[in-house]
Amino acid sequence: MDSEDFLRYVGSQVRLKSRTWGTLTFESVKLSPAVDGDLAVYIGNPFKQDTPLVRIHSECVFAEAFDSSLCDCSDQFKLAMRRLCDEGDGMLFYLRIDGRGAGLAAKVKATALEVRGADTYESRVAIGVRPEGRDFLPVAEFLKSKGVGAVRLLTNNPDKAGDLVRAGIEVVVEPLVVRNPSKMVRRLYETKRVKFGHSIPSEIMDDPQITFDFG
Ligand SMILES: [Zn+2]
Repeated sequence: MDSEDFLRYVGSQVRLKSRTWGTLTFESVKLSPAVDGDLAVYIGNPFKQDTPLVRIHSECVFAEAFDSSLCDCSDQFKLAMRRLCDEGDGMLFYLRIDGRGAGLAAKVKATALEVRGADTYESRVAIGVRPEGRDFLPVAEFLKSKGVGAVRLLTNNPDKAGDLVRAGIEVVVEPLVVRNPSKMVRRLYETKRVKFGHSIPSEIMDDPQITFDFG
């Protein structure tokens, strides 16, 4: 299917029941360089709210499909979905940009370095991809096209909030918190905090009871 064919299907919706999350509405969207598109997932009716709750999630096959111990992407996804479902109305963008935008093939290569001790920043530099290659402006433009001018954003990643704000959306950041991270995940958080500028207070690293998110 070439890109023109694919674009014919963007904007289609389906409503289905999740065994875990109840009724969800999926809309096919094109908000990333993923070759066959992304998903906007609606819980309840987020558009009836002045400031809907929003999560922008990037796919992580290792964690979500194979339960990798290297990161907590799957935990974050579940936590965000739980928050959205508890609230009753909200939306999650499922961007199919594994490897922080570098793609799945690059992620395999970078992860091979990480299991040998490199951190997630070093591994990406070593294989010649940008440590952070994601762009959230298309999400902002999509929100505006839907009449959403303000959101409560579940994240601690300033890049996500920053891209939305730059596009003219009012953003209230709500932390997304993961409890008791493992040793491997703590190491990842430290890298995120120091090298990616995420809002993870350093004292959290010493206190397993305090919760936080790395974006
Ligand atoms: Zn992950």
